[in-house]
Amino acid sequence: MHRLLQRQIRKHLGPGEPPPALQGLLAAVEEAYQQYDGDRRLTDRAMELSSTELVAANELLKIQNAQNQAVLQHLRAAVRALRQDDQTAGPAGDDLLALTRTLDGLIQQRHAVEAAGRAAVQAAEAANRAKSEFLANMSHEIRTPMNAIIGLSSLLLDFPLDREQRECVETIRQSGDALLAIISDILDFSKIESGRLELEEHVFDPRICVEQALDMFAVRCVEKNIELGLCYEPGVPELVNSDSTRLRQVLVNLVGNAVKFTEQGGITVTLSAEPTDAGQRLWFSVEDSGIGIPADRRDRLFKSFSQVDSSTTRRYGGTGLGLAISLRLVELMGGHIDVTSEPGRGSTFRFSILAKPLPEDLPPTVAVPPIDLDGQCVLVVDDNLVNRRILERQLTGWGLTVVCASDGPSALDEFKQGVGFNLILLDFHMPGMSGPELVDALRALPGVKIPPVILLTSHGEVDVTATTPVIAQMTKPVKPRELFAAVGHGLRHQAATQGGTLRPALGLDRDFARRHPLRILIVEDNHVNRRVLLLMLGRLGYQADSAGNGLEGLQCLARQPYDLVITDIQMPELDGLAATRELRLHVPRDRPPYILALTAHARKEDRDACLEAGMHGFLSKPVRLDELMDEFSRARAWLTAENRGGRTASRIPYSADLARRNSGSATPAR
Ligand code: ADP
Repeated sequence: MHRLLQRQIRKHLGPGEPPPALQGLLAAVEEAYQQYDGDRRLTDRAMELSSTELVAANELLKIQNAQNQAVLQHLRAAVRALRQDDQTAGPAGDDLLALTRTLDGLIQQRHAVEAAGRAAVQAAEAANRAKSEFLANMSHEIRTPMNAIIGLSSLLLDFPLDREQRECVETIRQSGDALLAIISDILDFSKIESGRLELEEHVFDPRICVEQALDMFAVRCVEKNIELGLCYEPGVPELVNSDSTRLRQVLVNLVGNAVKFTEQGGITVTLSAEPTDAGQRLWFSVEDSGIGIPADRRDRLFKSFSQVDSSTTRRYGGTGLGLAISLRLVELMGGHIDVTSEPGRGSTFRFSILAKPLPEDLPPTVAVPPIDLDGQCVLVVDDNLVNRRILERQLTGWGLTVVCASDGPSALDEFKQGVGFNLILLDFHMPGMSGPELVDALRALPGVKIPPVILLTSHGEVDVTATTPVIAQMTKPVKPRELFAAVGHGLRHQAATQGGTLRPALGLDRDFARRHPLRILIVEDNHVNRRVLLLMLGRLGYQADSAGNGLEGLQCLARQPYDLVITDIQMPELDGLAATRELRLHVPRDRPPYILALTAHARKEDRDACLEAGMHGFLSKPVRLDELMDEFSRARAWLTAENRGGRTASRIPYSADLARRNSGSATPAR
């Protein structure tokens, strides 16, 4: 409550509890002051409100005005009552007079606040209109030259260009497109606020979207001598259904800020995905090692036209609109955005979007890696920690074994210690010993076979002598898809020229099961092995049943038909060999399942014992997906031959004898 008024009331009333007649008045005065404070804050805020907030604030103002009227009436009645009731003359009377005057003043103030509130809302509305007009004009002015940039760069792409020139022109073209999209989106800002912006829905590769956003900053990062890295966690889908333009806009904004506010170190963009019932949730993070954001400024970041401090505009430029737009776009795409930061050490912006399920009629796309990267060993030599971390994460994610070295001499040490590498990823520019100098030093080491080298440069292609083992050059930021292709090429080259071993790709061929339909039963007592096998089959698109021993397996076979039984040999209750013999006794001769032994016993005698018991195939653990696929193709061919006439596998009769021996129950486990 106003301190002066409080003092006057206290003086008038003297010590002790105020009489009940005055308590209502005091409460009313208190309430009026609180509302006055609220109104003042509201007025202050009105000027920085967005139009959506403005509408809400206007509603609030109306409600509060109605409440104000009630409080004012209460006050007026109290003042009248005081004047009539208290005819006291002398000092107490004077105090009362002063009190009523103060209350009158308060009433006037409230009227003034209300009027100011209304005026502020009108001013804010006018400012908002001016803002929209300004945006429309700005958009028009920028669109005109953009038209030339986009049109001419498209024309340029039709000329014969070398790889570097083409990359530059394509980047100009893509940057032009992205800039145009941003301008349109700024124009849409008022639409977003009023909830009138509609997202598009189309199917796209999220990797391409991220890479296009990053392309825009490659040159800038080189100029600033900071690293820009990209990493995909395993499980990111090939295609998603969402709005790629809006997604790219958010990424461009976040990466743009990260580049703007980082002077050393680098920026890492990570993409991961998580399937949900409603579609794919994609997670993006943009981590920088820049100036960071003080804790007390973080809550204002996502408000429109807000920057961490006023010097930001002078030093770094910007409108303070980017994050506000990003927040709204991310929310529209069904996600959230937040930031963690440590001043002086960097910031990480994370956001997610919920991509809708893919349309049913989409043809299936299967990513089959050209070769199995598992177990191949790669040496990464780069002085920049961020870059090393990104490459290591990406390469290990593909199953490669990675050794990192931060400079030429440490890389040399690895070779001196006899570590054999299948491939080197080598940074060109390193302090002390450059990439090519390291290759020369390696050449001088006796008995060292230099594996193929992929050279990473920041300034486009460099001249390397014909004798170097450089088989590919990549410009940073290295794009995972291109890196994957280059690594595949490098490893194939190494296998061909230096006798490395390469297995064909273990295809993530989810279509395999459709091409080779099989009802499969796994009989395996070890639950971890069972789980591994189920997962491997799942990767091929199969859903298999499982049983914990031979007896349970026979029970399952009695309940329903299977085309293929994959069985372990050593199991409690009834082992694989005995179960097979039993099965062969009871199964109708014309409809047997294909029985495949899967055992840790790999000797020839073990194989012979299995085949003698009536099995058709034999694989030793640990099993590989390509071996399984071979066996499955064989099983399909065998079944087709066995069941000529189109019959499929059928149930075997479940003998009473077998039932008696059965001690547990077998439940097919999906
Ligand atoms: P602007 O156009 O000014 O960059 P934004 O809304 O994108 O507008 O960002 C608002 C403010 O947030 C920036 O001016 C800056 O003060 C702060 N900010 C955003 N990203 C970062 C970052 N990665 N590091 C430090 N400060 C940041």
